[in-house]
Amino acid sequence: MAKTKGLSFNYAIEFVRENYGEEGFKRVLDALSDGDRMILSEKILPVSWRPTKTFSNFLDATEKVLGKKKHNLSREAGRFVAEHALSKFYKVVIRLASPMKVLDRASELWKDFDDTGELQIEKTGPNSAIARIIGHQGGNEANCNHTLGFFERTMEMTGAKNVSIVHTKCIFRGDECCEYIGTWE
Ligand SMILES: [Zn+2]
Repeated sequence: MAKTKGLSFNYAIEFVRENYGEEGFKRVLDALSDGDRMILSEKILPVSWRPTKTFSNFLDATEKVLGKKKHNLSREAGRFVAEHALSKFYKVVIRLASPMKVLDRASELWKDFDDTGELQIEKTGPNSAIARIIGHQGGNEANCNHTLGFFERTMEMTGAKNVSIVHTKCIFRGDECCEYIGTWE
């Protein structure tokens, strides 16, 4: 079964609690299956692994329960997770790195957060790249939006400006892989 790092769960939950309170978090839990609710209610160690499907269901429920139109909650959650998770464990690496250096390490970084899917980076110019995730399991479109937000914030943390990322292909919409095209200044 595909798994996602506990750290991602913890910060995604913290994002919901910070923005929508305990009551908002409870409403999201109520929209989930008993199995998912149990996983999300228990203490999650940052270094542990939990089902990616549960993480995806949580993000999807967050959007359905708390999301307003055009307010992309999963993407915001992804930005929050990157900001906090990377500050904690990769602060020096990220802050001192250039966008290109971070892209060199992106494939490794992906493996720290998800145990399925291979992240491949194709640099297409000095300020542009394509990220492809091959074979990600247990995800959904909300999970992809979370990934988009995570990428976006990570690039900003390296000092890149006007970061734009478009999710052009999606395995969960029937494409052969998930593809993100990024540009920055
Ligand atoms: Zn996708």
